Parts: sequence; C-alpha cells; structure tokens
Amino acid sequence: MKIDLSQLDTEPLAFDERLSLEPERLGGGTVASVVAVRLGGEVRAHGGVYAVLGRCRAEGALACARCLEPVAWSSDERFSVEYRRATDGGGDPEVGLEEDELEVSFLDGDQLDLEELAVEQVLLALPMRTLCAEDCAGLCPRCGANRNLPDACRCRPEPDPRWQGLAGLAGRESDN
Ligand SMILES: [Zn+2]
Ligand SMILES: [Zn+2]
Repeated sequence: MKIDLSQLDTEPLAFDERLSLEPERLGGGTVASVVAVRLGGEVRAHGGVYAVLGRCRAEGALACARCLEPVAWSSDERFSVEYRRATDGGGDPEVGLEEDELEVSFLDGDQLDLEELAVEQVLLALPMRTLCAEDCAGLCPRCGANRNLPDACRCRPEPDPRWQGLAGLAGRESDN
C-alpha cells in the first residue's frame, strides 16, 4: 500500500497495515518463512520533510545459524523515519531504495510505500545471529547431517589436535 503525501496538510495521517513479506524481500539467508507484519503509525509534514512515527510488529521464522532449522521469531519495535523529496540534484528515484539510508530516506515522487518501509524496519529488527539452542551441534562439515539428531551423522570423529600434542609429549618422554 502507498500513501499519497501530496494530500497531506497540517493534520497527521494515520496508517495501520498488515503485510506478508516473502523471505526473498528480506534478503533470503536468515529468514526461513513468510514474515507477517503489522505496521502502524502516522505521517506528519514539517516543511519539506515527512516524519513517520510508528510501530512495527513482525512474526516469522529464522534459520538457525548452525543447523539451519527454522526458529520462531517475533519483534515489536517503535521507529521514526524522515523522508525528503528527491527533487533537485541527481533526482534518481533509486536513491530512496538504498538500504543504508535508513535515517533519512528519499521519496520517489509523493508516494510513501508502506511495504518498502516494512521491509526496512524488519531488516533492522532481525538479530545478527539466531541459534535454535545455545548448544546446537550444527551440521557435520563432512556429511552435512544435522548433528542434533541422534545417529544422523555416522562420520568417525576427527582426531583432536590437543590429544596429538599430548601424544607427542608422551613419545618424547619415552625416548629418554
Ligand atoms: Zn541449530
Ligand atoms: Zn557427518
């Protein structure tokens, strides 16, 4: 849904949207399901700037960083973003879509794209790293099996380098 800001006068304009974002919209990778978003808030005009104050609630599943199994995730964050019109200068409409310009974004014409805003806010809310459990054993680097499942991996354990060091020490001692 888009809000036409050219209709905005001194009164703030409220919005309350429910959206479903595909993992591909959220950069793929860590997001393991469609993310359900409720985006509510209001837009105010201050001179040439539009201030958006709101709340973004999101719910979905993220992939465990070690075993890739989906882990339920939700967030509830308040946000404030400012938009300026991309009028003079480059005027490149793509500028408003740059992901690193989250503090002040540029508008493509008079339209505020709420889906674009929801994507930005969900990306900000995503944790750096998700684990299904603190002691997740992850995937076997050799066969790719999920080592949290009993008997999923039947690879023989690699010799532990710490024991090799001790073995060398023991060998030296027996030489004497
Ligand atoms: Zn895991
Ligand atoms: Zn294995």
